[in-house]
Amino acid sequence: MKIVSKKFIDFHCHLDLYPDLAAAVRECDGAGIFTLAVTTTPLAWPRNNQLALNSKHVHAALGLHPQLVSERAEEIAIWDQYLPDARFIGEIGLDAGPRYYKHFELQKKVFAHILRASARAGGRILSIHSVRTVRIVLDMLETYFPGDRGKAVFHWFGGTVVEARRAAAMGCYFSINREMLRNEKHRAMVCSLPLDRLLTETDGPFVQIEGRPVRPSDVASTVSELAKALGLDSDQLQEKLSHNLEVLLDS
Ligand code: MN
Repeated sequence: MKIVSKKFIDFHCHLDLYPDLAAAVRECDGAGIFTLAVTTTPLAWPRNNQLALNSKHVHAALGLHPQLVSERAEEIAIWDQYLPDARFIGEIGLDAGPRYYKHFELQKKVFAHILRASARAGGRILSIHSVRTVRIVLDMLETYFPGDRGKAVFHWFGGTVVEARRAAAMGCYFSINREMLRNEKHRAMVCSLPLDRLLTETDGPFVQIEGRPVRPSDVASTVSELAKALGLDSDQLQEKLSHNLEVLLDS
């Protein structure tokens, strides 16, 4: 069992999209940040997993990003090969944004396959992308990924308060990033989430902070902003987040 940091959690970061993956892993270890290194294609899994196996704080997740499915759907065969070795699955999900909607049927096919296979394998923890598709993602989780077969974590959840309530009732978790706290409507939705389902993330390097790509250590600022929004003390909140992670990992 790896050490779960009492400090910070970055439950969704593309460490392999920074210029130097090995250095990014060392940085997480140096700072003691529990980091989920999500991948966008299963071809990236071996190297991410190799480095994660030698790391105290970094875990690799096996993914096939919905935005890449149109070009890479056949890589699902490679994803299948690595599934036995992967406890964490991501980035996976659906994207109905204008650029990706054309291939939505194919995305659904691939996502259904991933959910079914993960449920069959059992004990998997999923990091899910759900741009403009929360309702369909929830329907598909209900159909293909029963709650007793693993855990789903919504990454950058953009749904409504009602959808959030439905996800929470299904046992889902939510990893919160700083962009989600920017506008009032989303901040209100985040504040409506059950405290015992919250985690933090950066989605680095896709999010910018002070004109540079965000890094896992920047979750510190997300924790303090989230604490402010919730009316809690930062240390208190971080203790709760660490506890949530422990519960999730022990499930
Ligand atoms: Mn991402």
